[in-house]
Amino acid sequence: MKKIAFLGLGRMGLPMARRLAAAGYPLTVWNRSPGRAEDLAGVTGVTEAATPAEAVRGADVVVTMLSDPAAVAEVAGRCAAELAPGTLWIDMSSIGPRATADLRAGLPDGVALVDAPVLGSTGPAATGGLTVFAGGEDADLDRAQPVLEQLGRVRRCGGPGSGAALKVVVIGAIVACVTALGEVLAVAEELGVPQEQAREVLSAGPLAGVAARAFGTGSDFPVRLAAKDLALAGGGPVLAAAREVLLAHPEIAEQDLSAVPGALRRGR
Ligand code: NAP
Repeated sequence: MKKIAFLGLGRMGLPMARRLAAAGYPLTVWNRSPGRAEDLAGVTGVTEAATPAEAVRGADVVVTMLSDPAAVAEVAGRCAAELAPGTLWIDMSSIGPRATADLRAGLPDGVALVDAPVLGSTGPAATGGLTVFAGGEDADLDRAQPVLEQLGRVRRCGGPGSGAALKVVVIGAIVACVTALGEVLAVAEELGVPQEQAREVLSAGPLAGVAARAFGTGSDFPVRLAAKDLALAGGGPVLAAAREVLLAHPEIAEQDLSAVPGALRRGR
């Protein structure tokens, strides 16, 4: 089995790393804040590294699951020089195509990059039910496939950066629509439309999928990361406005996106 270095044991990274270990991959893990790897203590084949450089030394594959472009750039700066030619880096963080291109440009010769951000939250991360948007050269996508298949359904999007780009498109639509739904529920309150009635009708119409995400309880996607994803889209009046709305409610920054409707109702 290929040796994997897994960097970033956040709410998504930890269950993903656990799946790769369960699949039999020898795994060296690293997380910026200490303690996260304790959840993997005793899992066969898992070793904790003290630094990103130590983690990637001797790895065939590096997987990163970090919060944003700055995090990926910082971690790359701490370990890229240690990567041997032939290493495959799979970045699963949602950082958009520009930061993906920057990451690629900073890698040593002979190190390949696949961008593979995911759709789906912590539940699918634990069960291998994520949707993976993979972009890269065909040969690199072939090498990444067995690893990615452990984590979810792999959708090959095209060349380098195409997975990162599709993720920005899809999550931009989801976050903006959930925010809009939150706002119309606040309007419903002002107009005397019972919340239950509004939710029921919205859930039965063309916005059913968005309503399920906005009113559901099973996800753990912090509003702070949703605002980051809207920023990655680089503007557009509706996406920019949705981002302003999210940033205006710092009290829910660490809560799941489904906290948005309640915050908007309280805020009017
Ligand atoms: P998270 O729980 O906040 O974890 C973020 C990870 O990044 C942590 O390991 C954190 O380390 C690390 N990190 C942040 N800044 C860093 C830095 N400067 N240097 C080194 N490490 C740093 O986020 P998450 O929910 O797992 O999300 C990870 C990525 O997946 C994000 O891009 C997110 O948009 C995307 N995503 C999330 C979900 C979801 O439902 N949560 C779903 C799909 C995609 P510390 O522990 O030290 O803070």
